Amino acid sequence: MDDLILRGGIIAGSQQDLAIRHGRIRQIAPCISTPAQATLDIAAKLVLPGFIESHIHPDKAFIAARTSGLRRGGPSPQVLVAQLKKEFTVEDIYKRARRVMLCAIRHGCTSMRAHVEIDAFVELRGVAALQRVQAEFAGMLDLQLIAFAQEGIFHDEVTQSLLREGLQMGLPILGGCPYMDRDPRRHIDWFFNAAETAGVPLDFHADSGDDPSALTCDYIAEQTIARGMHGRVTLGHLCTLDMLEPDRRARVIETLQQAGIHVISLPATELHVKGRADKHTWRGVTRLEELRAAGVNVSISTNNIVNPFTPYGHPDLLRQALVTAMAAHLGNLDQMAWLLDLITINPARALGLQDYGLAAGCYADLVVLDAASPAQAITEQAEKLWVLKAGRVTARNTRTSDITMHA
Ligand SMILES: [Zn+2]
Repeated sequence: MDDLILRGGIIAGSQQDLAIRHGRIRQIAPCISTPAQATLDIAAKLVLPGFIESHIHPDKAFIAARTSGLRRGGPSPQVLVAQLKKEFTVEDIYKRARRVMLCAIRHGCTSMRAHVEIDAFVELRGVAALQRVQAEFAGMLDLQLIAFAQEGIFHDEVTQSLLREGLQMGLPILGGCPYMDRDPRRHIDWFFNAAETAGVPLDFHADSGDDPSALTCDYIAEQTIARGMHGRVTLGHLCTLDMLEPDRRARVIETLQQAGIHVISLPATELHVKGRADKHTWRGVTRLEELRAAGVNVSISTNNIVNPFTPYGHPDLLRQALVTAMAAHLGNLDQMAWLLDLITINPARALGLQDYGLAAGCYADLVVLDAASPAQAITEQAEKLWVLKAGRVTARNTRTSDITMHA
Protein backbone atom coordinates (compact mmCIF):
# COMPACT_ATOMS: atom_id res chain seq x y z
CA MET A 1 0.00 0.00 0.00
CA ASP A 2 1.21 3.53 -0.78
CA ASP A 3 1.76 6.01 2.03
CA LEU A 4 0.31 8.95 0.12
CA ILE A 5 -1.17 9.75 -3.28
CA LEU A 6 -1.27 13.29 -4.63
CA ARG A 7 -4.29 13.51 -6.93
CA GLY A 8 -4.51 15.47 -10.15
CA GLY A 9 -1.50 17.78 -9.86
CA ILE A 10 0.17 19.23 -12.95
CA ILE A 11 3.33 17.24 -13.59
CA ALA A 12 5.36 17.76 -16.75
CA GLY A 13 2.53 19.73 -18.32
CA SER A 14 -0.44 17.42 -17.69
CA GLN A 15 -2.71 16.41 -14.82
CA GLN A 16 -1.42 13.25 -13.12
CA ASP A 17 -1.46 11.34 -9.85
CA LEU A 18 1.74 10.79 -7.88
CA ALA A 19 2.10 7.85 -5.49
CA ILE A 20 4.62 7.89 -2.62
CA ARG A 21 5.96 4.86 -0.77
CA HIS A 22 8.78 4.71 1.81
CA GLY A 23 9.75 8.31 1.12
CA ARG A 24 10.13 7.93 -2.63
CA ILE A 25 7.96 8.45 -5.68
CA ARG A 26 6.59 4.99 -6.63
CA GLN A 27 4.60 6.01 -9.69
CA ILE A 28 3.43 9.01 -11.70
CA ALA A 29 0.41 8.26 -13.93
CA PRO A 30 -2.86 9.85 -15.09
CA CYS A 31 -4.97 7.77 -12.67
CA ILE A 32 -3.57 5.64 -9.85
CA SER A 33 -6.30 3.48 -8.29
CA THR A 34 -4.25 1.34 -5.90
CA PRO A 35 -4.93 1.79 -2.15
CA ALA A 36 -3.10 4.39 -0.04
CA GLN A 37 -2.94 5.42 3.61
CA ALA A 38 -3.84 8.98 2.63
CA THR A 39 -4.64 11.07 -0.41
CA LEU A 40 -4.28 14.76 -1.11
CA ASP A 41 -6.43 16.52 -3.69
CA ILE A 42 -4.18 18.95 -5.54
CA ALA A 43 -6.22 19.17 -8.75
CA ALA A 44 -4.66 21.48 -11.35
CA LYS A 45 -1.88 22.65 -9.01
CA LEU A 46 1.70 22.73 -10.26
CA VAL A 47 3.99 20.07 -8.75
CA LEU A 48 7.75 20.69 -8.75
CA PRO A 49 10.65 18.89 -7.15
CA GLY A 50 11.67 20.59 -3.88
CA PHE A 51 13.48 23.92 -4.19
CA ILE A 52 17.23 23.92 -3.64
CA GLU A 53 19.17 26.81 -2.10
CA SER A 54 22.58 26.23 -3.66
CA HIS A 55 24.36 29.29 -2.21
CA ILE A 56 23.24 30.83 1.06
CA HIS A 57 24.71 32.35 4.25
CA PRO A 58 22.61 31.43 7.30
CA ASP A 59 25.45 32.33 9.69
CA LYS A 60 25.28 36.03 8.83
CA ALA A 61 21.51 36.26 8.33
CA PHE A 62 19.23 38.67 10.22
CA ILE A 63 21.92 41.15 11.29
CA ALA A 64 20.85 44.23 9.30
CA ALA A 65 19.63 45.96 12.48
CA ARG A 66 23.15 45.72 14.00
CA THR A 67 24.76 47.91 11.31
CA SER A 68 24.24 51.08 9.33
CA GLY A 69 24.07 49.40 5.91
CA LEU A 70 25.69 50.58 2.69
CA ARG A 71 26.22 54.32 2.19
CA ARG A 72 27.97 56.23 -0.57
CA GLY A 73 31.68 56.40 0.36
CA GLY A 74 31.10 54.15 3.38
CA PRO A 75 32.53 50.73 4.23
CA SER A 76 31.91 47.67 2.07
CA PRO A 77 29.48 44.98 3.26
CA GLN A 78 32.50 42.71 3.90
CA VAL A 79 33.97 45.27 6.32
CA LEU A 80 30.62 45.86 8.07
CA VAL A 81 30.00 42.15 8.62
CA ALA A 82 33.60 41.38 9.63
CA GLN A 83 33.18 43.73 12.60
CA LEU A 84 29.92 42.09 13.66
CA LYS A 85 31.30 38.57 13.31
CA LYS A 86 33.70 39.04 16.21
CA GLU A 87 30.68 39.24 18.52
CA PHE A 88 28.86 36.21 17.10
CA THR A 89 28.35 33.42 19.65
CA VAL A 90 27.38 29.84 18.81
CA GLU A 91 23.94 30.45 20.32
CA ASP A 92 23.43 33.67 18.36
CA ILE A 93 24.41 32.03 15.04
CA TYR A 94 22.30 28.98 15.86
CA LYS A 95 19.13 31.03 16.50
CA ARG A 96 19.48 33.11 13.33
CA ALA A 97 20.38 30.11 11.14
CA ARG A 98 17.46 28.15 12.57
CA ARG A 99 15.14 30.96 11.55
CA VAL A 100 16.56 30.78 8.01
CA MET A 101 15.77 27.04 7.87
CA LEU A 102 12.18 27.57 8.99
CA CYS A 103 11.64 30.34 6.40
CA ALA A 104 13.28 28.26 3.67
CA ILE A 105 11.13 25.19 4.40
CA ARG A 106 8.05 27.38 4.48
CA HIS A 107 9.00 28.54 0.99
CA GLY A 108 9.47 25.09 -0.52
CA CYS A 109 13.13 24.34 0.13
CA THR A 110 14.09 20.68 0.64
CA SER A 111 17.89 20.87 0.18
CA MET A 112 20.42 23.60 0.88
CA ARG A 113 24.15 24.24 0.48
CA ALA A 114 25.31 26.84 3.00
CA HIS A 115 28.61 28.70 3.31
CA VAL A 116 29.92 28.61 6.88
CA GLU A 117 32.48 31.33 7.51
CA ILE A 118 35.73 30.21 9.10
CA ASP A 119 38.33 32.85 9.95
CA ALA A 120 40.14 34.68 12.73
CA PHE A 121 37.00 36.66 13.64
CA VAL A 122 34.42 33.89 14.04
CA GLU A 123 36.80 30.89 14.22
CA LEU A 124 34.78 27.65 14.25
CA ARG A 125 31.70 28.97 16.07
CA GLY A 126 29.67 28.99 12.85
CA VAL A 127 30.56 25.34 12.23
CA ALA A 128 29.34 24.34 15.69
CA ALA A 129 26.11 26.31 15.26
CA LEU A 130 25.35 25.07 11.75
CA GLN A 131 26.10 21.44 12.63
CA ARG A 132 23.56 21.77 15.44
CA VAL A 133 21.02 23.17 12.96
CA GLN A 134 21.88 20.40 10.48
CA ALA A 135 21.16 17.70 13.06
CA GLU A 136 17.97 19.37 14.24
CA PHE A 137 16.53 19.63 10.72
CA ALA A 138 17.74 16.22 9.43
CA GLY A 139 14.78 14.57 7.72
CA MET A 140 13.19 17.95 6.94
CA LEU A 141 15.95 19.62 4.95
CA ASP A 142 19.24 18.22 3.64
CA LEU A 143 21.90 20.74 4.62
CA GLN A 144 25.37 20.66 3.00
CA LEU A 145 27.95 22.83 4.75
CA ILE A 146 30.94 24.50 3.08
CA ALA A 147 34.10 25.41 5.00
CA PHE A 148 34.23 28.95 3.63
CA ALA A 149 37.01 31.56 3.77
CA GLN A 150 35.11 34.84 3.38
CA GLU A 151 38.06 36.90 4.64
CA GLY A 152 40.78 35.36 2.45
CA ILE A 153 43.52 33.07 3.76
CA PHE A 154 46.71 35.13 3.67
CA HIS A 155 45.83 37.94 6.11
CA ASP A 156 46.49 35.98 9.29
CA GLU A 157 48.20 32.87 10.64
CA VAL A 158 45.11 30.90 11.65
CA THR A 159 42.55 30.73 8.83
CA GLN A 160 44.26 28.00 6.78
CA SER A 161 44.49 25.60 9.71
CA LEU A 162 40.96 26.49 10.87
CA LEU A 163 39.68 25.56 7.41
CA ARG A 164 41.42 22.18 7.63
CA GLU A 165 39.92 21.76 11.09
CA GLY A 166 36.49 22.49 9.63
CA LEU A 167 36.99 19.65 7.16
CA GLN A 168 38.05 17.37 10.01
CA MET A 169 34.82 18.31 11.82
CA GLY A 170 32.97 16.79 8.87
CA LEU A 171 32.32 19.65 6.45
CA PRO A 172 32.45 18.00 2.99
CA ILE A 173 33.21 21.02 0.75
CA LEU A 174 35.88 23.77 0.67
CA GLY A 175 34.91 27.32 -0.24
CA GLY A 176 37.32 30.01 -1.35
CA CYS A 177 36.98 33.72 -2.08
CA PRO A 178 39.89 34.72 -4.36
CA TYR A 179 39.03 38.43 -4.52
CA MET A 180 39.63 38.76 -0.75
CA ASP A 181 43.37 38.08 -1.10
CA ARG A 182 45.92 40.30 -2.83
CA ASP A 183 47.11 37.41 -5.01
CA PRO A 184 43.96 35.63 -6.19
CA ARG A 185 45.86 32.94 -8.13
CA ARG A 186 47.86 31.97 -5.06
CA HIS A 187 44.54 31.75 -3.17
CA ILE A 188 43.03 29.55 -5.89
CA ASP A 189 46.11 27.29 -5.98
CA TRP A 190 45.94 26.82 -2.20
CA PHE A 191 42.30 25.73 -2.43
CA PHE A 192 42.91 23.28 -5.27
CA ASN A 193 45.85 21.77 -3.35
CA ALA A 194 43.81 21.51 -0.14
CA ALA A 195 40.82 20.04 -2.01
CA GLU A 196 43.02 17.43 -3.70
CA THR A 197 44.56 16.44 -0.38
CA ALA A 198 41.19 16.17 1.36
CA GLY A 199 39.31 14.72 -1.63
CA VAL A 200 36.53 17.31 -1.45
CA PRO A 201 34.80 19.47 -4.09
CA LEU A 202 35.29 23.24 -4.32
CA ASP A 203 32.80 26.09 -4.23
CA PHE A 204 34.26 29.57 -4.85
CA HIS A 205 32.85 33.06 -4.55
CA ALA A 206 34.36 34.30 -7.81
CA ASP A 207 34.52 37.48 -9.90
CA SER A 208 32.23 39.66 -7.86
CA GLY A 209 33.77 42.89 -9.17
CA ASP A 210 33.52 44.97 -12.35
CA ASP A 211 37.19 44.95 -13.46
CA PRO A 212 37.72 42.64 -16.47
CA SER A 213 41.49 42.48 -15.79
CA ALA A 214 40.76 40.85 -12.39
CA LEU A 215 38.88 37.91 -13.91
CA THR A 216 39.64 34.58 -12.19
CA CYS A 217 36.98 32.13 -13.42
CA ASP A 218 39.08 31.32 -16.51
CA TYR A 219 42.04 30.36 -14.32
CA ILE A 220 39.77 28.32 -12.02
CA ALA A 221 38.38 26.49 -15.06
CA GLU A 222 41.91 25.76 -16.36
CA GLN A 223 42.94 24.40 -12.95
CA THR A 224 39.75 22.31 -12.79
CA ILE A 225 40.66 20.67 -16.10
CA ALA A 226 44.35 20.29 -15.27
CA ARG A 227 43.60 18.59 -11.95
CA GLY A 228 40.84 16.35 -13.25
CA MET A 229 38.13 17.93 -11.11
CA HIS A 230 35.56 18.15 -13.90
CA GLY A 231 32.06 18.71 -12.49
CA ARG A 232 33.34 19.17 -8.91
CA VAL A 233 33.82 22.94 -8.93
CA THR A 234 31.05 25.52 -8.39
CA LEU A 235 31.31 29.29 -8.83
CA GLY A 236 29.01 31.85 -7.25
CA HIS A 237 28.58 35.44 -8.59
CA LEU A 238 30.55 35.70 -11.91
CA CYS A 239 29.45 39.35 -12.16
CA THR A 240 32.61 40.26 -14.08
CA LEU A 241 31.45 38.17 -17.06
CA ASP A 242 28.97 40.95 -17.71
CA MET A 243 31.87 43.43 -18.19
CA LEU A 244 33.86 41.43 -20.78
CA GLU A 245 33.83 42.15 -24.48
CA PRO A 246 31.57 39.60 -26.21
CA ASP A 247 34.42 37.73 -27.96
CA ARG A 248 36.43 37.22 -24.80
CA ARG A 249 33.26 36.36 -22.87
CA ALA A 250 32.38 33.62 -25.35
CA ARG A 251 35.86 32.07 -25.00
CA VAL A 252 35.67 32.17 -21.19
CA ILE A 253 32.21 30.62 -21.18
CA GLU A 254 33.47 27.83 -23.45
CA THR A 255 36.25 27.05 -20.96
CA LEU A 256 33.73 27.00 -18.10
CA GLN A 257 31.67 24.51 -20.08
CA GLN A 258 34.70 22.31 -20.83
CA ALA A 259 35.57 22.23 -17.12
CA GLY A 260 32.02 21.26 -16.12
CA ILE A 261 31.86 24.30 -13.83
CA HIS A 262 28.53 24.87 -12.07
CA VAL A 263 27.52 28.55 -12.04
CA ILE A 264 25.28 30.06 -9.37
CA SER A 265 23.96 33.57 -9.90
CA LEU A 266 22.90 35.66 -6.89
CA PRO A 267 20.74 38.38 -8.42
CA ALA A 268 19.25 39.96 -5.30
CA THR A 269 22.66 40.73 -3.78
CA GLU A 270 24.11 41.94 -7.09
CA LEU A 271 21.22 44.34 -7.64
CA HIS A 272 21.68 45.79 -4.14
CA VAL A 273 25.48 46.04 -4.04
CA LYS A 274 26.74 46.56 -7.58
CA GLY A 275 27.03 49.65 -9.71
CA ARG A 276 26.40 52.17 -6.94
CA ALA A 277 29.10 54.61 -8.07
CA ASP A 278 28.78 54.01 -11.81
CA LYS A 279 27.91 56.60 -14.41
CA HIS A 280 26.25 53.75 -16.28
CA THR A 281 24.52 51.44 -13.88
CA TRP A 282 26.09 48.00 -13.85
CA ARG A 283 23.67 45.56 -12.24
CA GLY A 284 26.18 42.73 -11.95
CA VAL A 285 24.00 39.71 -12.66
CA THR A 286 25.98 37.20 -14.71
CA ARG A 287 25.16 36.31 -18.35
CA LEU A 288 22.58 33.63 -17.68
CA GLU A 289 21.28 33.10 -21.19
CA GLU A 290 24.75 32.92 -22.77
CA LEU A 291 25.86 30.40 -20.14
CA ARG A 292 22.71 28.40 -20.83
CA ALA A 293 23.28 28.50 -24.58
CA ALA A 294 26.84 27.20 -24.11
CA GLY A 295 25.57 24.24 -22.07
CA VAL A 296 26.88 25.42 -18.67
CA ASN A 297 24.87 24.24 -15.67
CA VAL A 298 23.42 27.45 -14.17
CA SER A 299 21.48 27.99 -10.94
CA ILE A 300 20.25 30.94 -8.91
CA SER A 301 20.18 31.21 -5.14
CA THR A 302 19.30 33.58 -2.31
CA ASN A 303 22.79 34.28 -0.92
CA ASN A 304 22.13 36.87 1.82
CA ILE A 305 19.30 37.37 4.28
CA VAL A 306 18.68 40.70 6.06
CA ASN A 307 22.31 41.87 6.25
CA PRO A 308 24.32 44.66 4.57
CA PHE A 309 24.81 42.55 1.43
CA THR A 310 21.05 42.19 0.91
CA PRO A 311 18.89 43.87 3.59
CA TYR A 312 15.70 42.54 1.99
CA GLY A 313 17.02 39.04 1.26
CA HIS A 314 14.67 36.20 2.15
CA PRO A 315 15.12 32.47 1.53
CA ASP A 316 12.28 32.27 -0.98
CA LEU A 317 13.52 30.87 -4.30
CA LEU A 318 10.33 31.71 -6.14
CA ARG A 319 11.11 35.34 -5.30
CA GLN A 320 14.64 34.86 -6.70
CA ALA A 321 13.06 33.57 -9.90
CA LEU A 322 11.09 36.82 -10.22
CA VAL A 323 14.13 38.97 -9.37
CA THR A 324 16.08 37.10 -12.05
CA ALA A 325 13.34 37.50 -14.62
CA MET A 326 13.52 41.27 -14.05
CA ALA A 327 17.31 41.52 -13.82
CA ALA A 328 18.14 39.37 -16.84
CA HIS A 329 15.27 40.09 -19.24
CA LEU A 330 13.84 36.59 -18.93
CA GLY A 331 10.12 37.23 -19.25
CA ASN A 332 8.98 35.06 -22.15
CA LEU A 333 6.95 31.98 -21.25
CA ASP A 334 9.72 29.52 -22.17
CA GLN A 335 12.25 31.61 -20.23
CA MET A 336 10.06 31.64 -17.12
CA ALA A 337 9.66 27.85 -17.35
CA TRP A 338 13.48 27.64 -17.53
CA LEU A 339 13.82 29.86 -14.43
CA LEU A 340 12.22 27.10 -12.35
CA ASP A 341 15.00 24.71 -13.52
CA LEU A 342 17.45 27.19 -11.95
CA ILE A 343 16.01 26.52 -8.47
CA THR A 344 15.37 22.77 -8.89
CA ILE A 345 17.10 20.36 -11.29
CA ASN A 346 20.14 22.55 -12.07
CA PRO A 347 21.22 23.11 -8.44
CA ALA A 348 20.53 19.41 -7.80
CA ARG A 349 23.27 18.69 -10.35
CA ALA A 350 25.58 21.30 -8.83
CA LEU A 351 25.13 19.79 -5.37
CA GLY A 352 25.46 16.24 -6.64
CA LEU A 353 22.08 15.17 -5.24
CA GLN A 354 21.12 11.58 -6.03
CA ASP A 355 17.58 10.42 -6.89
CA TYR A 356 16.21 13.94 -7.20
CA GLY A 357 13.37 14.91 -9.55
CA LEU A 358 9.86 14.10 -10.68
CA ALA A 359 10.24 10.44 -11.67
CA ALA A 360 9.56 7.01 -10.19
CA GLY A 361 12.32 6.04 -7.77
CA CYS A 362 13.25 9.63 -6.85
CA TYR A 363 12.85 10.91 -3.30
CA ALA A 364 9.42 12.49 -2.78
CA ASP A 365 10.88 15.97 -2.15
CA LEU A 366 8.10 18.10 -3.59
CA VAL A 367 6.51 21.53 -3.70
CA VAL A 368 2.88 22.02 -4.73
CA LEU A 369 2.24 25.57 -5.92
CA ASP A 370 -1.05 27.45 -6.12
CA ALA A 371 -0.58 27.94 -9.86
CA ALA A 372 -1.18 25.99 -13.03
CA SER A 373 2.00 26.97 -14.90
CA PRO A 374 5.57 28.16 -14.23
CA ALA A 375 4.78 31.63 -15.57
CA GLN A 376 1.77 31.98 -13.28
CA ALA A 377 3.80 30.68 -10.32
CA ILE A 378 6.47 33.37 -10.85
CA THR A 379 4.15 36.21 -11.83
CA GLU A 380 1.73 35.76 -8.93
CA GLN A 381 4.43 34.56 -6.51
CA ALA A 382 2.09 31.65 -5.93
CA GLU A 383 1.67 30.21 -2.46
CA LYS A 384 3.59 26.99 -1.75
CA LEU A 385 0.53 25.02 -0.69
CA TRP A 386 2.40 21.89 0.37
CA VAL A 387 6.07 21.14 0.92
CA LEU A 388 7.10 17.49 1.26
CA LYS A 389 10.45 16.05 2.29
CA ALA A 390 10.88 12.32 1.57
CA GLY A 391 7.10 11.98 1.36
CA ARG A 392 6.31 13.70 4.65
CA VAL A 393 4.63 17.11 4.79
CA THR A 394 7.07 19.67 6.23
CA ALA A 395 4.98 22.78 5.50
CA ARG A 396 1.35 23.57 4.69
CA ASN A 397 0.70 27.16 3.65
CA THR A 398 -2.54 28.96 2.92
CA ARG A 399 -3.26 32.49 1.82
CA THR A 400 -6.72 34.00 2.06
CA SER A 401 -8.23 37.20 0.86
CA ASP A 402 -11.77 38.54 0.73
CA ILE A 403 -12.73 40.97 -1.96
CA THR A 404 -15.97 42.81 -1.41
CA MET A 405 -17.81 43.83 -4.57
CA HIS A 406 -19.64 47.14 -4.31
CA ALA A 407 -22.25 48.23 -6.80
ZN1 LIG B 1 27.74 34.28 -1.01
